[in-house]
Amino acid sequence: MTYIVNDECIKCKYMDCVEVCPVDCFYEGENMLVIHPDECIDCGVCEPECPVDAIKPDTEPGLEKWLSVNAEFSKVWPNIVAKKEPPADAKEWESVPGKYEKYFSPKPGDSDIGIGAKKASSIADEGQDP
Ligand code: SF4
Ligand code: SF4
Repeated sequence: MTYIVNDECIKCKYMDCVEVCPVDCFYEGENMLVIHPDECIDCGVCEPECPVDAIKPDTEPGLEKWLSVNAEFSKVWPNIVAKKEPPADAKEWESVPGKYEKYFSPKPGDSDIGIGAKKASSIADEGQDP
């Protein structure tokens, strides 16, 4: 089991969820976040934090599409571990229907602390003398 992010997040991207995840398993796209299904420990603390109800347990019926979107894009988007400024027009996009079909972007987000940065920092640590 895992939790997933659905298209309610698109263009809202409040990032309250990121702050509470104990295992930092959120990944950032240009206009939404996803959860890495293999890293999520199913703690559920992020679900009530989302102001637009975009986070669901994958045990709910009909979420197969979102599970595959989360699984696919968490492999290629950068890891996000801290909340940033939400889009200025986030409120206007709440509850807009059909956001995935019209507005989903496969482009990565611009997280400063991405997978590459994490790896680079651990390589730098390993390279240092004790
Ligand atoms: S809190 Fe909800 S809307 Fe905000 S980034 Fe997380 S899933 Fe998306
Ligand atoms: S359920 Fe827990 S581990 Fe999974 S994404 Fe939410 S906060 Fe992170």
